[in-house]
Amino acid sequence: HDEAAAARAAAKSASEGGPTIFDKIIKREIPATVVFEDELCMAFRDVNPQAPTHLLVIPKERGNLSQLSKAQEDDKSMLGHLLYTANRVAAQEGLDKTGYRVVINDGVEGCQSVYHLHLHVIGGRQLTWPPG
Ligand code: IMP
Repeated sequence: HDEAAAARAAAKSASEGGPTIFDKIIKREIPATVVFEDELCMAFRDVNPQAPTHLLVIPKERGNLSQLSKAQEDDKSMLGHLLYTANRVAAQEGLDKTGYRVVINDGVEGCQSVYHLHLHVIGGRQLTWPPG
């Protein structure tokens, strides 16, 4: 399927070091539909939604959290805050009534394409399992 192949290709060519497009979203240098923000994190609509609701929740300061597998002991409170926020924004979208999914893609085989930790919040339709 074309889109899945494109996602795999993006994941393979994504670099793990430098700034990402999410830095530009945080700095308001490129537009995004921001649905929630606090001092630590921000949630905005995915530009290529996989369901009627598809949000990304990100830390404003990436630090070493380019990906979940880089998480350290002192990232625990941020990780908790991001997950807690994922449910808040899901509820804001009405998904707490119906159910939804939170996904973190990690690394090449996880199909990660942006190396700034992000939680996908996906819902608004019946999802299936397993994911691809
Ligand atoms: P990943 O594949 O798990 O790393 O997810 C990256 C996500 O970021 C994908 O779902 C993309 O559609 C999304 N994305 C990439 N660039 C932008 C943007 O500029 N605005 C909003 N979402 C984006």
